Formats: sequence, structure tokens, C-alpha cells
Amino acid sequence: MSKYALVCGAGGFIGGHLVKRLKTEGFWVRGVDLVYPEYCETHADDFVIGDLREQEVCRAIVDRRFDEVYQLAADMGGAGYVFTGVHDADIMHNSATINLNMLDACRKRNNQVMFYSSSACMYPAYNQEDPDNPNCSEHSAYPAQPDSEYGWEKLFSERLYLAYNRNFNMRNRVARYHNIFGPEGAWQGGKEKSPAAICRKVAMAKSNDEIEVWGDGKQTRSFLYIDECLEGSIRLTRSNIEEPLNIGSDEMVTINGLVDLVADIAGKKIHKNHVPGPLGVRGRNSDNRLIEQRLGWRPSASLRSGLEKTYEWIEQQVRRNS
Ligand code: NAD
Repeated sequence: MSKYALVCGAGGFIGGHLVKRLKTEGFWVRGVDLVYPEYCETHADDFVIGDLREQEVCRAIVDRRFDEVYQLAADMGGAGYVFTGVHDADIMHNSATINLNMLDACRKRNNQVMFYSSSACMYPAYNQEDPDNPNCSEHSAYPAQPDSEYGWEKLFSERLYLAYNRNFNMRNRVARYHNIFGPEGAWQGGKEKSPAAICRKVAMAKSNDEIEVWGDGKQTRSFLYIDECLEGSIRLTRSNIEEPLNIGSDEMVTINGLVDLVADIAGKKIHKNHVPGPLGVRGRNSDNRLIEQRLGWRPSASLRSGLEKTYEWIEQQVRRNS
């Protein structure tokens, strides 16, 4: 008997990869999204085009008990989408509505375990002002002060999933993702994240060209390759851990360092033109002590190995588009 999984947000970057991974494990998978995956055919057995802000859609797709439900659907994007303030109301309304509806639908069908993808953006801004020493340990979440409405919605929804655990005997799992990247993700159009944007700019540049970098480039981040994100998410879903866990890399780099790494992979000499742009916090890094302690596992692949695969894919897209 195969197992059944539901992936909300299956047309998106992480959801699309997760469907593939669950299929390799023999699951029957239903995917749901507003759109089909942009860069490859879906591997789902059943793909429903539906708007999860509609209660009836959520009731209709949760028509049975699933062994695993992954709720990844959200209104999101990179810094250019989340930190300008222009999309704040949509981000909060759309994502919170999806989570409220999906939790309610799952509870009513007695689906007890949902995986929810929160974000490192829920951590307080005051702990992320020093680029060399950000604090993103799980217990540093409160007093809360995320630097974006996207982060506030994530915090609200985390609490919602945990409240359903306490009041309705659910066993929901919450991950705090830190910058996930890889092939088959947004690489242009405004919703792309920094690794994809930098890969695109470098792929379009000739050696000795200049590319634009937002801010002074001294802000720090860490980036987790998609395969390790899926591994962590699946391990957490199948564990008995009910507290939120970071799923991220702890290999911290500056944005300038990220540009140099991509340029090196591309074999090009790239100059940086620092321009004003939406930046987010000054420093952020995953703290992986708790995940290691609880799951006996932590991400370990190097940033370079993931960037090599991502650059190759983005370079192909750029060539195809030109
Ligand atoms: P994505 O934007 O590629 O995927 C999200 C998907 O949700 C999209 O395909 C979108 O169409 C879908 N969606 C949005 N509104 C919907 C609606 N009303 N009904 C149905 N589908 C809807 O993003 P992703 O990078 O794959 O992220 C997946 C999850 O992980 C999100 O919850 C995101 O907030 C979280 N997360 C991602 C990162 C990252 O670095 N990618 C970091 C932290 C948290």
C-alpha cells in the first residue's frame, strides 16, 4: 500500500522539489497551487490548480487522511518583494488565510500531522545587527521583533500550528528555513533571492564587467541547498519534535563573498557596483545546535557545491532566453 502525501505550494520552488523527492520514496502525491511548476513538469499523481485562500478549495483537496501534509504555499519572494513594504497587506492576508484554512480543513478530516515552513525572517531584528555575530538560536525568538510583515505572519502562523497541537491533539511540525536555493527556482522577475539574482547577473556579464549589488555587500547570510532542505523537512515531519527548528546552513558569507564565489565558479572577473536597495537585516546565520541535538542530523554540504549546480542551471536559462 503506498502512502499518501499532500503538498501545498507544489507549483513553487521547494514544493516542486519535494513532490519529486516524495515520488522517489513511493508516495502517491497530490500537489496544489495557483500555478503549475514553471521549469519542469510536475511529478505529482494529482495536481490541483486551486486557491488555498478559499475554504472550499481546502476542504475539497483534503478529502481523505494523508500520511504527510506539507504546507509550503505562501505569498513570498526575495528582498525586492518582501522588504519594500509595497506588498505587506497581501503577504499578511494571503499567507495567514492559507494557513488558517488548511489547518481547519486538516483538523476536520483528522489529518494530525502537518509540516509548516516558517522562516528565519521571524527572528528579532535586534539580534541581527552585527553582521559577524547574528543570533538566530531557536530560543531567541522572543521578545519578537521581526523586521518585515512577512516575518510577523510567519510568527503568527507558527503559533497557530502549535496552538492546534495543544488544543486539538495535532502533531504539527514547524521548520524555520534559512534562504533555500537551487535549480528550478525563481531567477528573474523580482521574486528571486540573492543567490539566483547573483548567478543571473554573473551569467549575463562578460569577464571584467560590473554587476549591481544592493547595499555595501557586507551584510551576511547563509544559504541552504534544496536537497538538504528537503532532507531536514522530511526528517522533522517524521520525528516527534513539536518545537520549531532551524533548517539552514551555518556557513555564513557576506553578499560580496557570495558574488566572488559565483564569479569564481563562472571563471569570470566581476566588479561590484554597490547601489541602494532593499536589504533586510545586517547579519543572519542558522544556528544548528538544536537540530543536531534533536534530530541527530544537520546540513553539511558546502555552499560552493550547491552554487555550482545552481549556476549551471541559471546559466542555461540565461542562454535560452537570450
Ligand atoms: P515559492 O514562491 O516558489 O512557492 C510558494 C508557492 O505557493 C507558489 O508556487 C505560489 O503560487 C503558491 N501560492 C501562493 N499563494 C497561493 C494560494 N493562495 N493558493 C495556492 N497556492 C498559492 O516559494 P518557496 O521558496 O518554494 O517557499 C516555500 C515555503 O517556504 C514558503 O512558505 C516560504 O515562505 C518558505 N520559506 C522559503 C524560504 C526560501 O529561501 N525559499 C525561506 C524561508 C521560508
